[in-house]
Amino acid sequence: MTDDRAERAAAFRPMRLRLSRTALLSNWRWIASLSDSAACGAAVKADGYGLGARKVVEVLANAGCRDFFVATWAEAADIADIAPPASISVLHGIRPADMAMATALSAVARPVLNTLEQVNLWADQGGGRSCDVMIDTGINRLGLSPDDASRLPQAALSVDILMTHLASADADLAQNDQQLACFRSVAGGIAHRRASIANSAGALLGSAYHADLMRPGLALYGGVPRTEARGHIGQVATPQAEVLQVRRISAGQPVGYNATWVAPHDVDIATINLGYADGYLRAFSDAGMAYVGGATAPVVGRVSMDLVTLALPAGHAIRAGDWVDLAYELPSAAAVSGLSQYELLTGLGQRFDRYWVD
Ligand SMILES: *Cc1c(COP(=O)(O)O)cnc(C)c1O
Repeated sequence: MTDDRAERAAAFRPMRLRLSRTALLSNWRWIASLSDSAACGAAVKADGYGLGARKVVEVLANAGCRDFFVATWAEAADIADIAPPASISVLHGIRPADMAMATALSAVARPVLNTLEQVNLWADQGGGRSCDVMIDTGINRLGLSPDDASRLPQAALSVDILMTHLASADADLAQNDQQLACFRSVAGGIAHRRASIANSAGALLGSAYHADLMRPGLALYGGVPRTEARGHIGQVATPQAEVLQVRRISAGQPVGYNATWVAPHDVDIATINLGYADGYLRAFSDAGMAYVGGATAPVVGRVSMDLVTLALPAGHAIRAGDWVDLAYELPSAAAVSGLSQYELLTGLGQRFDRYWVD
């Protein structure tokens, strides 16, 4: 779709994602303030955790954020033209098929090399351009093992960010200190410009973990990865949906597929234009909540693909065409649904009209 057509279509969308620039900025600034010396970047992979990477990058870049992390080269290409010039690290590294894109984006983006194969490919075909390197210090997922790292052809590489990723920063496990010690011993032997360890939760583990550059994602978007962040992180994304129909049902009548909820008394049911196809998953069935006017309305019955049913409070004035906000404060929405705060964000679908306020 052209931008024009996309804009006109958005006006007809019966569901919106309200996004707060102020909250995004204040979350980023709060994480940044945790360290006196480390810079604060931003993980914007998965389309800015579902919020829309371009806008997230624009807002944070204007505030002085310079280092952005994406998973793939396609994601790098999506944000590469945004001013002021940013530094984009592609976490999944480089495959032969990515080389043309990496060359085209070389002014702003570079790979995070994860294997000796990637290292050799970059040393061969990277044209001497700088790269980042990921050391796997114990998550055993992606990155050079300490052993591989000792075989790095350092003369052939110009390493900007040397990084590792914590497996359990959201918990108080000995694994955090073990990974830190492992990273320090490996980093001592590899020339690099900047070291980076902390994701959102890692930033809360204290200055030992801040290194030169922090890489938060979740907390920027309203996630609370550890209790230390409670009260400091604001909600960024609020799903909103239009009411399609309000019906009065009598005590004893069921609602939704498989009649999982039966009205205990006469009640008005509002059916709203949102469903699991939009990332509002069935885990919210008989568990989620919406704000209607100044009151709350529980989700009753199963969440359907495109519809959710709410039990309206007595005395409400809700009618078809009204809009409701879904309760989506991430820690509590995660507790209620059993989904992770990450899943709650990244699952938000393409039918939302994403709009920024403040
Ligand atoms: C996703 C990611 C981050 C950000 O993690 P959060 O937990 O969302 O703060 C940082 N570094 C790497 C390597 C990542 O993959």
